[in-house]
Amino acid sequence: MGISIKGLAVLVILSNAIPTPVFSNDSDVRVNQDRLEYHILTLGEIGKDQTGATSRLAYSQFDLEGRAYAMRLMNDAGLKISIDAGGNVVGTRLGKDPSLKPIMTGSHIDTVPEGGNYDGVVGSLSAIEVAKTLNENNVILEHTLKVVIFTNEEGGHVGSRAISGRITEDMLNLKSQIGLTHREGIKKLGGKPGVLNKPLHEKGDLFAFIELHVEQGGVLDKEGINIGVVTGIVGIRRWLVDVIGEANHAGTTQMASRRDALVTAAMYVLAVNKVALGLEGNHVATVGRLAPEPDAINVVPGKVRTTLEIRDLSAEKIQKVFEVIEKASERIADRNGTKIIFNEIQQNAKPAPTNKAIQDEVKRAARELGLSFSYIPSGAGHDAQEFVPITPTSMIFVPSKGGVSHSGLEFTSANDIANGANVLLKTILAIDKFDQF
Ligand SMILES: [Zn+2]
Repeated sequence: MGISIKGLAVLVILSNAIPTPVFSNDSDVRVNQDRLEYHILTLGEIGKDQTGATSRLAYSQFDLEGRAYAMRLMNDAGLKISIDAGGNVVGTRLGKDPSLKPIMTGSHIDTVPEGGNYDGVVGSLSAIEVAKTLNENNVILEHTLKVVIFTNEEGGHVGSRAISGRITEDMLNLKSQIGLTHREGIKKLGGKPGVLNKPLHEKGDLFAFIELHVEQGGVLDKEGINIGVVTGIVGIRRWLVDVIGEANHAGTTQMASRRDALVTAAMYVLAVNKVALGLEGNHVATVGRLAPEPDAINVVPGKVRTTLEIRDLSAEKIQKVFEVIEKASERIADRNGTKIIFNEIQQNAKPAPTNKAIQDEVKRAARELGLSFSYIPSGAGHDAQEFVPITPTSMIFVPSKGGVSHSGLEFTSANDIANGANVLLKTILAIDKFDQF
């Protein structure tokens, strides 16, 4: 369902009707929770189905409508709008000193099929609300502020990769969820895929990047914590794992002389779980696929195709977990007269630690607002990780009810969102006063 003209009229009246006190001191400035909630719920109507889930797939008609709505809000917040070559919507608010590098903040509004309306949206519309709040309070930052809605986050961080120069020709030629290639999709959004062989921002071009996002895990919600100070986005390594045994007759092959690949694979799955549970830390290790061959009821399985994925904030830790799993697997394979072969897949994400100085400001902002906080790594990928190699980067998490995400049941309360937006606002005000990192 698209957004109606009537809905927009109500929006304009509503945003004008809310009295906005003018503060003399930056530190008293707060976002408008009701307005922010209204914006989030209104955007949520675009691409919503009967079940309440939102399908605003990148490059789709609903994506275009959602972006148009966000651009109206940007315009209303006094941001000067442009579309960069990656198709990202960029809203610029000039700072006092044009020689200073810009501070960038934002997130995405595209969703997975039948997704929620908080993943990405919270950070995107809060960033616009921060700009609106600065305007209303006549606060002019030293640095220029750039509010960004990134192109196709769910399809592989397309827009943020374009900014840091990590988008390849191969990726541009890949088909997106709706069937257009990323190249065609970026063009449809008003970008220029032909110039994306170079980064849109070189290392050092930006002063900092900060992204507010829902946690997409249940930690903050379960522990009743308001704000997650994100320590980094975990690295991911993945392996295709082949278990090799010998296919044989299920009736005539004696138990003792079998080389059963599926029995080995079953022990391997348990070993991965046991190793990961046994080692201290926040790492996770997963076997997500298991395909026996020949996959027949009367044949001892000769081969099993399986997988391994390990995530952690430290590359050394991932390596350590892998080595322990590899050793355990070798013992299991030997015992059963089989082999386990690990082949690493090449498109792995490096761990992306966030900037310590910004983390400190996020923590300080939470404390000043009387909010509880906790240090937390992000187990999911985000646009922010694409900025880590080019600028000081940080993320702020707010609770997601039950940790549910990529689902119509995803929910974050208006109060939690406003808390996050106020922390974002205060963090931007604080780092604006930095001479350098
Ligand atoms: Zn997201």
